Amino acid sequence: MELCAACRKQTSWTPCMWCRKPLCETCARFELLAEGCGTVVPAYYCETCVADPFCNPNAIFWQMKESDK
Ligand SMILES: [Zn+2]
Ligand SMILES: [Zn+2]
Repeated sequence: MELCAACRKQTSWTPCMWCRKPLCETCARFELLAEGCGTVVPAYYCETCVADPFCNPNAIFWQMKESDK
């Protein structure tokens, strides 16, 4: 059993789509990516990659959310 790379408390549940870090259900950030016309694919990112525009085309929304706090 591999531990979540973000919190190191829970066992991993899914890898980050970009960096392949193991993530638990709490730490994984769910994202829907638009692919082509009208198709969306579900993706899970770690908290670093989800806010990185190079990894996540929707990163700008996460950055806005984070700066809200
Ligand atoms: Zn975790
Ligand atoms: Zn990642």
